[in-house]
Amino acid sequence: MASEAISSLDEIENRYQGFLFDAYGVLLDGSGLIPAGAAVWHDLRKRGKSCWILTNGSSRTPEQATAAYRALGLDVTLDEVITSGSLLPRYFEEQGLRGELTCVLGTAATHELVQKAGGIPCGALDSHDYAVVIVANQTEFPLLETLDAVLTHVCRRVEDGRPCYLILTNPDLIYPKSGTTYGFTAGSLALLLEAGLKLRLGPDAPPFAKLGKPFAPIFAEAERRAGHKNLLMIGDQLETDILGANNYGIDALLVGTGLTRIAAGMQFHPEPRYVLSAWRART
Ligand SMILES: [Mg+2]
Repeated sequence: MASEAISSLDEIENRYQGFLFDAYGVLLDGSGLIPAGAAVWHDLRKRGKSCWILTNGSSRTPEQATAAYRALGLDVTLDEVITSGSLLPRYFEEQGLRGELTCVLGTAATHELVQKAGGIPCGALDSHDYAVVIVANQTEFPLLETLDAVLTHVCRRVEDGRPCYLILTNPDLIYPKSGTTYGFTAGSLALLLEAGLKLRLGPDAPPFAKLGKPFAPIFAEAERRAGHKNLLMIGDQLETDILGANNYGIDALLVGTGLTRIAAGMQFHPEPRYVLSAWRART
């Protein structure tokens, strides 16, 4: 079934009890708020609709992310912000990882999230015998040395017959640094590690647990907060927002305000239920 082109969210709003917004490319971009997207967010909330931001970013705590959105002029509460990093406490609890020494590839905020999750954060280069690795961000550590050390450590543990748990919070591969430049993101680092571990360990290579979009845990958190699954995912990226929603079994709206350009008659794979070329504020 082809995607349905709509000209305003009003046309389909009453079909859903809750709305999940991707942040970057939907509500904001490199220069700040996307005014028409923010207006849609504010209008929905004013009319009592439930809205959440669903973001793969894990370099900030949910409190820091909420403060940053508010500083840009978006009216949002902490409960309305679901970051991939904020899924760590639940994951640690479910997997029985509390109290484990945890190697963190990420920012100071990621260390804070690991502590909140009950893990004991450490770096990759200090010869710690950690049992958990979290790949959250690509900054604030020497990249190649760190990846070499993690590859070596995980191989050694698995060869010794001891488990090592790998967690990827932000599965994004690249991000737009500006209009015309791009950078690698945490997902690309996990790909490198996965490939290296597979070469060395074959079928014994531990898999990464992936928490952010397009994987299920971040959508499950949204469903848990909403208390139902009658949700519409609104996003600008096919491989994260739209694929994730389709796989989780909720509808998706692709908006043309971010990475994916939308023109009349275009077909998309994976296919969103709806496409909207640009935001139009309620009149
Ligand atoms: Mg986006």
